[in-house]
Amino acid sequence: MVADTRNVDPEEISKFEALAERWWDPASEFKPLHDINPLRLDFIDERVKLCGKRVLDVGCGGGILAESMAERGAEVIAIDASEVPISVAKLHQKESGSNVDYRLGTVEEIAAAGEAAFDVITCLELVEHVPDPGSVIGACASLIAQDGHAFFSTINRNPKSYLFAIIGAEYVLKLLPKGTHDYAKFIRPSELDAWSRRAGLKLSELKGMSYNPITRRYRLGDDVSVNYLSWYRRSGD
Ligand code: SAH
Repeated sequence: MVADTRNVDPEEISKFEALAERWWDPASEFKPLHDINPLRLDFIDERVKLCGKRVLDVGCGGGILAESMAERGAEVIAIDASEVPISVAKLHQKESGSNVDYRLGTVEEIAAAGEAAFDVITCLELVEHVPDPGSVIGACASLIAQDGHAFFSTINRNPKSYLFAIIGAEYVLKLLPKGTHDYAKFIRPSELDAWSRRAGLKLSELKGMSYNPITRRYRLGDDVSVNYLSWYRRSGD
């Protein structure tokens, strides 16, 4: 496959590749993903009961979410468009003994290959890094079983999210390296919802994920103005 025909932004990919070896270091640039993982894992598990479910994790990176879902008893296939995080994930799996099936690829490629439907698709912290988020959502929707579920998370686009997710997180608190996020690629919940509805998905729940710089803790709540996590189901169920 020729790289520039895929729904992949090479600049975005190289940002993650440069840091990937530190993916599983909870004190590294990936600390925020380690810190939010228990929250998002519980959110997903409480809604779909992961044990025994066939799950696809799209844009899995080093596998923080994928491994934790497998630990809860899900049968997880996890994909990433870049070989570097996939090799980090496979290496970590050798230590952890996790049985996630890691594969290189985009969700559009997995859908075109005719993969069987999934009970649950997770696509977290990815859509703000791709050229065409609607295409990712469409491909995810096409791979969801009739009574299946999708979870998307990303960052809202408004002055507050610019202040918190870029100035605050990258420049003041230095939670993330400078340049991790591109404000123009942030996605409003209404935009995510328009792509999802077009793909036949219906919103079940939307939650904000916020960071308290004093306690240094994340929590899920009703404020969706910066980071948010959504639960979708196939319509008509
Ligand atoms: N979902 C993981 C990692 C998010 S980081 C988590 O939340 O813990 C974003 C990841 O998406 C990176 O590993 C990057 O290589 C990958 N990526 C970027 N564009 C992609 C695409 N079009 N398809 C699949 N993965 C992609």
